[in-house]
Amino acid sequence: MSTQAIQQNPFQSMLDRYNTAADILNLEPSLRHKLQQPEKQVLINFSVRLDNGEEKNFDGYRIIHSTTLGPSKGGIRYDTAVNLEEVKALAAWMTWKSAVTGIPFGGAKGGIVVDPKQHSKAELERITRAYTKALADIFGPDKDVPAPDMGTGPDEMGWLMDEFSLLHGKTIHAVVTGKHLNAGGSLGRTEATGRGVSIITLLALQKLGLYTGHSTVAVQGFGNVGLHTALFLHEAGLKIVAVSDINTALYNPAGINIPELILYYNLNNKSITGYPKTQSIEHDELLLLPVNVLIPAAKEDVITAANAPFIKANLIVEGANGPVSSDADAILKDKNITVVPDIVANAGGVTVSYFEWLQNSLNESWAIEQVNYRLNDILEQSFNEVYNTAAQYNATLRIAAYILAVKKVAQTYMINRSLNNSVSFKQN
Ligand code: NAD
Repeated sequence: MSTQAIQQNPFQSMLDRYNTAADILNLEPSLRHKLQQPEKQVLINFSVRLDNGEEKNFDGYRIIHSTTLGPSKGGIRYDTAVNLEEVKALAAWMTWKSAVTGIPFGGAKGGIVVDPKQHSKAELERITRAYTKALADIFGPDKDVPAPDMGTGPDEMGWLMDEFSLLHGKTIHAVVTGKHLNAGGSLGRTEATGRGVSIITLLALQKLGLYTGHSTVAVQGFGNVGLHTALFLHEAGLKIVAVSDINTALYNPAGINIPELILYYNLNNKSITGYPKTQSIEHDELLLLPVNVLIPAAKEDVITAANAPFIKANLIVEGANGPVSSDADAILKDKNITVVPDIVANAGGVTVSYFEWLQNSLNESWAIEQVNYRLNDILEQSFNEVYNTAAQYNATLRIAAYILAVKKVAQTYMINRSLNNSVSFKQN
């Protein structure tokens, strides 16, 4: 059988890890089933008038995986590859991510099958407003709170907030996070995921005894997560030797000047193509470079059983959601490559989203120092807890993170259920 044939979809990858943790926790069958399936799956189709007058149809999704720990929380992705299995996996990862990080949210994810680069800003606004209108009964500050993901950012979040507010006849900032600052956003949210990935990378390097101050790093993806991760690690003194986006992969073994590359990217229509002082390499080559740290920060399933045997990094830190498929786990473990899983590594985004939601709900505005201090504190605590659990169970960091997350959601679900039982018992 070829390695391609055994490659799994992201939801299957999520289930494989979930089931391993559920076995270790000896979760009873009905609870095991309940926690692996989404609570609600909403599939929509809507039409939008394009700038040329034509009507175009779009498929959209919003999947609520769990509301056990609080209102469901999760990004909205605009990409042509968006599909049900992917959104289901992303929604479940949000549940486990909030749980392991100690954020009082459940998990959800949404998406539209669209290439945002093919649409004008006016069209993107109409698409976002139509999506919001179709899901107006699902969203709500105490129900389901979206955020940005691939292909979306503060503009889309602002339109969503505005449309939802118009539908309700009042301003409701806390319905969405990742907004522009003057639309109720939080300082530090834009760069939060990348800042978090860099904090976790430095912690992991120190724990593993690999920190040299000059460790080499390759980052796949130069969008919100990849760009900020590369910048903060560069500022921390690490040597970023390779970066890539969807079109180009750049390599310089002596290190890339990331602030200069960001200037170039901003002047070059958000593209790294053509940046000098580097050599172009094949996309797949970036993943196989002899670096200390590999940070996949683009999309899921880029490291699979097919390329895992050839990876040379000592440490993989998952900036993206689901970049390592479950069929690669055992191979990486055998090669003694430590993987810091997505639900720990990229939790900086949901953490500062929680801060934004709190600020909106309390009508407060926090200083950047307060945001970053709290972010650092929460991530450090979460990483240490996962690290200690891994030692306790002799498990990988990924399985340790799932053990902590699944245990927390299961226990809360049981507490809620027995409370409900006692209420109905009293009523009887
Ligand atoms: P983005 O759209 O800002 O950037 C994605 C980047 O990946 C772009 O540079 C794109 O060109 C590049 N890319 C796409 N396909 C590629 C490929 N095959 N090879 C190399 N590069 C490729 O998206 P983002 O917000 O940075 O999200 C990236 C990942 O991080 C996603 O998995 C997302 O779910 C996850 N994530 C994002 C956040 C957030 O706050 N934005 C939080 C947690 C996790």
